[in-house]
This record gives sequence, structure tokens and C-alpha cells, in this order.
Amino acid sequence: MNKQNLHLWLLAAAIPLVAWLPLPDFWIVQLNYVGLYALVCLGLVLLTGVGGLTSFGQAAFVGIGAYTTAWLTLNLDLSPWLTLWIGLGLTAVSALIVGAITLRMSGHYLPLATIAWGLSLYYLMGNLDALGKYDGLQGLKSLSIGSLDIGQGRLFFVLTWAILLAGAVALLNLLDSRPGRAIRSLKTGSQMAEAMGINTFRYKVTIFVIAALFASVAGWLMAHFQRTVNPSAFGLKMGIEYLFMTVVGGVGHVWGALVGAGLIKLLDDYLQVALPALIGTSGSYEVIVFGIAMVLVLKYMPDGLWSLVTDLLPRTSRPVDWQDAADLPARHKPAPGDSVLSVRAVRKQFGGLLAVNDISFDIHAGQIVGLIGPNGAGKSTTFNLITGVIDKTSGEVLFCGESIGNLPSRAIARKGMARTFQHVKMIPDMTVLENVALGAYMRGRMGVLSAMLRSNRAEERRMMKEAQRQLERIGMGEYLHEQAGNLAMGPQRLMEIARALCCDPALLLLDEPAAGLRHKEKQGLAQVLRQLQGEGMSILLVEHDMDLVMDVCDHLVVMEFGTLLTQGTPAEIQASPAVRAAYLGTEH
Ligand code: ADP
Ligand code: MG
Repeated sequence: MNKQNLHLWLLAAAIPLVAWLPLPDFWIVQLNYVGLYALVCLGLVLLTGVGGLTSFGQAAFVGIGAYTTAWLTLNLDLSPWLTLWIGLGLTAVSALIVGAITLRMSGHYLPLATIAWGLSLYYLMGNLDALGKYDGLQGLKSLSIGSLDIGQGRLFFVLTWAILLAGAVALLNLLDSRPGRAIRSLKTGSQMAEAMGINTFRYKVTIFVIAALFASVAGWLMAHFQRTVNPSAFGLKMGIEYLFMTVVGGVGHVWGALVGAGLIKLLDDYLQVALPALIGTSGSYEVIVFGIAMVLVLKYMPDGLWSLVTDLLPRTSRPVDWQDAADLPARHKPAPGDSVLSVRAVRKQFGGLLAVNDISFDIHAGQIVGLIGPNGAGKSTTFNLITGVIDKTSGEVLFCGESIGNLPSRAIARKGMARTFQHVKMIPDMTVLENVALGAYMRGRMGVLSAMLRSNRAEERRMMKEAQRQLERIGMGEYLHEQAGNLAMGPQRLMEIARALCCDPALLLLDEPAAGLRHKEKQGLAQVLRQLQGEGMSILLVEHDMDLVMDVCDHLVVMEFGTLLTQGTPAEIQASPAVRAAYLGTEH
């Protein structure tokens, strides 16, 4: 049992303890509400804090859970233990539909869409006769097991908080896993994740559904606790409040959901009494205070209150328990000298601009080929055409003898092309090891459910072992547990190479790996590239630094104004008057 587990067991033990403390009933009721709200906030931590998708509409999913059980238990006399699952099913279906429509939206459109969705469900609930219109449905049963009423007071507290704790543990497990790392990569934009073979849209929908399911369970509990449901608890105002609780607590932290829900619930009750007394007239003044507080928190403490606690806690690094893990499955690689990449008359037109004009070149297994040329020559565009980031206007790319057509980058990555980025793309708050393990994503299979239930540990150990092996392979062994965001530029770029190697690629594509490096770091990079070449790796190197290119490449392809100027060995290129002219015209 590691330290993390110990904390969780202590928390689990604390729940029945609190329930039997001689607390006034009022406080138990308060804690019950805190637990219910925190459950919704847990979903928001995953969706908004980790995944970067802001939703104002979570209250609507609480409503689906609540109304489903209310209607079914009242009208069909079904058991609440059955209606819970029906509610979850309905929630999942609605979240899938709403998610599929809205999650492709970018920027501010998604939050706006969730507002629209929250509003429309509110008015739907308020206008349906079957749901009792704005009066809602009354007279629900309390939850019970046999003849034991667990729907009120202390037993309900134990039930709610046990579910909450289980949810929190499931989320913590999820975040520390193969799908969890994919989810954590969503905020960095989709390009990097897709290049690691991750279907980012599917993960967005997945976390949208998970967050909705957390909300739905809270709605089910709430309905039977209050014995009545009405639309006001599930409207936009509550949706905003859930988001507010999560942000105040710490939107990126699982325990922040609990802190935020607790603080806001208690503050809410206090202000609702204190403010009207202070001002002299009645009214929902607390909303104004919350509005101002939210702005202040967002400005001065964007990580929320829980970050104050995490700053105090010592950073614990993952215990190394994977030394004896089996190796991950490896790809069949082309034999030395076989064709790895064949670029044939590839062309890209941006409107009137011909960025890449019928470029052709070849890479054979074990070769390092450099793609060079002055700024704006079309190198990055060629790189993006090969990796599937953008579609070709015409031409063909054969990878290991097979045409890759206009496949998306994710599918090309799966075929064995791994890349790095001109501007380093990483997850700054993950360790170097975890960032590199993201590269092994395609070589694993374990999904969200096995991650939550922690039945993925054997595969996790294999992935961590592979990540460590790749880091050690390029001399980054002492950085395993560093936070990636704290690294200097040189180690960051090497980390990206390790991540790409973790994909077990047949071809490694590096986009300006020496950009921003100091002299010493460049020498280190050249050393790594020579070593990889010695190990038989095939590499396409887009690079500005002539010394590096001349030093490590077997073959050079020179571009100018989108066209192929010439190609040959470094010595031939250095002797070429055309190349000299091209470079003298624009650089040095
Ligand atoms: P390099 O990487 O060699 O510096 P690029 O491939 O980035 O050059 O750019 C080649 C040309 O294509 C440039 O003139 C650039 O302005 C243009 N270009 C690149 N991307 C786009 C785009 N998405 N839309 C329009 N023009 C583009
Ligand atoms: Mg470029």
C-alpha cells in the first residue's frame, strides 16, 4: 500500500466516524448537500479542469437523473435502485447526443452551447404536464434497503459520501492511466495527441458523458433526499453555481471539487441570511457576491483554493515498480535499405500560393534525411503533408510501400510514423516519464473503465518501463520524475524525441529539433541523432542549423520557394552553387 492509498483509506474510515459524531442534525444535512454538489463538481473537474471543456449545463444532467427516478418511482412504482440505472442510461444517451453535436465546436461556442442546452432542458422540465410543470413532482420515497431507511440523515450521509469517495478514487485512478494521459493532453490542443494516435474527439465525448453520469447520480440521490423535484434546482443558475464551486475549489484537482462545494454551500447559506439583514431588504444578494468572488478567484488564483494545499504537500513521485514488467509489443520494422518513405510529386496549394510544388524524395531504412531550405521554402508544409496534418492537393506518399492517401494524422501515426513539433507540445504539469508514456498510447489497450477500476496496472507498468527505457536511451534517465514544465528547452526537445520513440516508430520525423538550443545542447542532440542512426532508426530531419544537418544527415533535400532545388549528400550540397545562392540570398 503506498501513501496515496493510505490517505484514501483514512478518508473512507472518516465517513462513518463523522456520521456518528454528536453533530447537530442541521450540520449533517449541510454535509449531505455538500456531498451531492461535490459529486457534480467531480465531473466538472474532469471535464473542465482536466479536459479544458467548459460546461454551464451540468445542472441539466442532474435534472435528468432526478426527474427520471421521480417519474418512474411515482408513476410505475419502480424501485429507486432500478431507476438509478435507467437514469444513468438516459443521461448517457443525452450526453452522447449533445456531445456529438457540440464538442466539435471550439473556443467560446462550446460554453455557449451548454448554456443553450441548460436553458432548453429547464424550460422543457418546466412545461411538461407529465413532469408537473414548474411545481415539479412530489411525494418521492426515501431510499431504503429492505426496511432500513437510508435516505435521510446520517445513513444518507454515509451513502452519499461513500459514492463521492468512490467517484473521487475512480477519477484519480483514471487520470493516472493510459486514457487519463490522453484526456490530460486535450488541453494542449489536438495536434500532439492525434500525432500520438489518440482520437481526441472520442475522449472529449467520453469525459462529457462521464461528467454527466456523475451529475445524474447526484440528481438521483437529491431527488430521494428531498422527496420532491422541481426545475429550479436544475436550471442555468445552478449550472453556473456548480462551475463556480469547481473553479473556487480548484478546477484541476479532484479534491478541489470537495473544497469548493463545501465552501460555497456554507457561504451561500450564511450570505442568504446575513446580506439581507445587512442591507435591510430581502433579495438574492449572495449571487452578486459570488459573481465578484468568481472574477477575483479567476484573476488571482486560477488554480483554486486546493492549489494552496498542494503547494504545501511534498511532491511524491511515482514509485518505480515496473522493473520486471514485460516489454510492450513491438512493430515489425523495414529491413535496412528498404524504402520507408517515398514522397512522389506532392503538391500543396494555399489559395493562390503554391507552398509545395511537386516535391519528390525517398528515405530508406536506417537513413537520416535532412529537409532544408530558407525560411518560407515549404519545409513545414511538406512535413505536415507527410504526417497527415494537412491534406495534399495532389501527389502521393508511400509509407513502407503503402500509400497513405489523405489519412488523418492519427491513422498515419498508427502505421508507425512518430514526430516532434517545431514548438514543443507537452503536458507541463505531468512528469517527464508520464509525458513520454503518452507516446506508448498506441501500444496499449486498456480503456476508461479498467483505468477507473485499476485493473490496468500490469499494462501501466509495461508502459512506464518503456517510457523509462526510451528516456534512458537518449540520456534523459535522471529526469524521469521532473515536472515537464520545469525543464529547459534542450531537455524538453529530447523529451519529445523520447515520446516519439515510445511510439516504436518505423520513421521518426523531427521538426527543427535544434531551434532554441544552446551550443552545448545542440551537441547533445547531434550525439543522440548519431546514436539513433547507429541503432538503425530512419529519420526525416527538418532543420535550420546547417552545422547540425551537415554533421548528421546521410542525404539532403533542399527546397526553395516550394520547389525542389536539389538533393544529394552533404558534401554535394555544400559544393552546390545553387544552394549557396539560395542561402546567401536570404540568410547569413
Ligand atoms: P518553412 O517551414 O520552410 O519555413 P512553410 O512550409 O511554413 O515554410 O511555409 C511555406 C509557405 O506557405 C510560406 O509562404 C507560408 O506563408 C505559406 N503557408 C504555410 N502554411 C500556410 C497556410 N496554412 N495557409 C496559407 N499559407 C501558408
Ligand atoms: Mg517551418
